[in-house]
Amino acid sequence: MKTIYFDNAATTPVRKEVLNEIMPYFSDIFANASSVYDIASQSRKAIEKAREQVAKAIGAQKDEIYFTAGGSESDNWAIKGTADALSKKGKHIITTQIEHHAVLHTCEFLEKHGWDITYLPVDEYGLISLDDLKNAIRPDTVLISVMFANNEIGTIEPIAEIGKIAREHGIYFHTDAVQAAGHVKIDVKEMNIDMLSISGHKLGAPKGIGALYVRKGITISNLIHGGRQEKGKRAGTENTAGIVGLGKAIELAVEEIDETNSYLTMLRERVIKGITENIDFCRLNGHREKRLPGNVNISFEFIEGESLLLLLNSKGICASSGSACTSGSLDPSHVLLAIGLEHEKAHGSLRITLSKENTVEEVDYLIKELIPIVKRLREMSPLYEDYLNGEKAV
Ligand SMILES: *Cc1c(COP(=O)(O)O)cnc(C)c1O
Repeated sequence: MKTIYFDNAATTPVRKEVLNEIMPYFSDIFANASSVYDIASQSRKAIEKAREQVAKAIGAQKDEIYFTAGGSESDNWAIKGTADALSKKGKHIITTQIEHHAVLHTCEFLEKHGWDITYLPVDEYGLISLDDLKNAIRPDTVLISVMFANNEIGTIEPIAEIGKIAREHGIYFHTDAVQAAGHVKIDVKEMNIDMLSISGHKLGAPKGIGALYVRKGITISNLIHGGRQEKGKRAGTENTAGIVGLGKAIELAVEEIDETNSYLTMLRERVIKGITENIDFCRLNGHREKRLPGNVNISFEFIEGESLLLLLNSKGICASSGSACTSGSLDPSHVLLAIGLEHEKAHGSLRITLSKENTVEEVDYLIKELIPIVKRLREMSPLYEDYLNGEKAV
């Protein structure tokens, strides 16, 4: 059976063009970029070219890009690095309830060390309110961290407006752009972004490589102490192959962004239409327009997302759900709870995240298989039975 991959927000395969580009850096051009011989200067040049590519993709300057080991590290660095550098100025951070755990758990860690964190709520579409943000700002606020686009429901936050508010108040603004980079147009200067996190494996580069943009003129403490790589701010021998891959992948993604996004939007709308028109008692989560082109997140009443995933898997379809059972917890997604879903509905959700490798045929196959799966799960569901009995009673 063919595997159909609809989980591109979890990770993406390394693109062929990217793989070709990085292969020499595992073998022929393997030298440590800090060494003095010729092949080392080839490593150095490749790293600096990639830095240029990443900078260009987000409207930054080359010397504002630092390579890291991924999105989680970039988020940790931005937040802990700011906290360490500015603790004398104040110990208050504003973030949101729907951040990735790389941000949320970092903030919780700081809370244990005497920091005060405001977790802004979101509306039913997953958007923060700019008034809430303004009201949360205090004299001791040193950082605002709001994600660019949400990884579960695809909602795109008003980043330029947030940046403007942060700049007016002289507060650092970090955004976790792991789902947005290469997928949505980003200009860090226009949007007044001070720090921005990127991860390679969400955009066709390998896992274990990422970047943090740090605007020139702002100070954050170093995260990894050691050698002088990345201007001494992030020590450790450079992951040359990963870095080259990130540069190439983000350059390609940005070159193709309009074409990819109109294709993904077409596929996305076909999934949404196909599901909502053929299956009762379901709703689209997230914002209708302010949404990542490849994201669909739908809640189905009366059923469990996990069972849905297992049955889809038996048809060769890889998707994701809104509950965190896979991580050993039965809690429903904090994001779906934050947009106001009841526990049952948050449990019965399905996330489909598309890439340009997906086809109309695959989408139609998903819909064709999903309809009987939902029907079958509902027939076995005590919640659905209760509902039907209730209907009869009325
Ligand atoms: C995947 C993801 C991360 C973590 O990135 P890694 O490179 O896997 O560490 C952080 N934030 C968001 C929004 C993500 O989707």
